Amino acid sequence: MSVIERLAHKPSQAYLVVGATAPEFAKKFAQHLFCPKECEHCPHCTKLAHGTHPDFTWVSKSGKRISIDQVRDLQQKALYPPVEAPKKIYVIESVEDLSLEAANSLLKILEAPPRYLIFILLAKSTNILPTILSRCQVVKLPTPPRAQIEQSLAERGLSPQEIEYLLSITHGAMPDETALHTVKDFFAKRPQLHKQLTELSDNELWESLTEKNLFARHEATVELLRRLEHYSSAQVLSLAAALSKGDQDTIESFIQEALYWYRDRLTVHNTHAVYALETALWKLQRNANVQLLLESLLFTLRQGLHAAPA
Ligand SMILES: [Zn+2]
Repeated sequence: MSVIERLAHKPSQAYLVVGATAPEFAKKFAQHLFCPKECEHCPHCTKLAHGTHPDFTWVSKSGKRISIDQVRDLQQKALYPPVEAPKKIYVIESVEDLSLEAANSLLKILEAPPRYLIFILLAKSTNILPTILSRCQVVKLPTPPRAQIEQSLAERGLSPQEIEYLLSITHGAMPDETALHTVKDFFAKRPQLHKQLTELSDNELWESLTEKNLFARHEATVELLRRLEHYSSAQVLSLAAALSKGDQDTIESFIQEALYWYRDRLTVHNTHAVYALETALWKLQRNANVQLLLESLLFTLRQGLHAAPA
């Protein structure tokens, strides 16, 4: 009996699927729930494959995380019973990133869901609101070893250099489809982009920290961290002021990128930087004074770079 068959055998109304391959698993599982034979040609299977099944909804992040509005919308629509299948399935991505407000809103419907509803929540870790966790049947998927990820990327036509670059940005995790589609193009333009980045004024560079493209944002952050070392106190303060004008997602994404950068270069001095970044992230999510927080963080980072051995 496969994991999916076993789960379907002991039905629950909420599942939490944890692991890098959670989205693929959720698709398979939903198909199995609608068509246990997974026949691929009945109306359920065809509509699922085309993304047109009226009783199947996939909620993905519209920005950096699922918004409270998306959860409210879901709450409303979930009140209508299924039209074609016996159940109505909602897949919700990245529940570990939900804001407290959105998580509480989701919790309301998980507490007393109509009988036809099934939730499949996806997460990279079980580090989610405990009250949500306690209402879910947890499915932990095995993490594929790095060699396996590398092989599947090679099969998709990526060169060893592209694979190494991609995995250095995703920190060894399987990249999502957008990253896979853009990496080749981006990797080819990388030397040119590097040159452009070094020629940008500080203000222009700070603006490019808000890039939508994962790779462009990553490169801009790295260039900024390089420059930070040589910044005067006045420049650090202007940078903090400029960054604090961005929205929360931009600031968080900058801190997250910087965090990865320092973790990859973990020295005694960098542990201070990592600690400062983790603390800043935590405070940021709890409505701290953003500008003060960034000032203190950036000064710590600059100091860390000064202290680091050449
Ligand atoms: Zn079928």
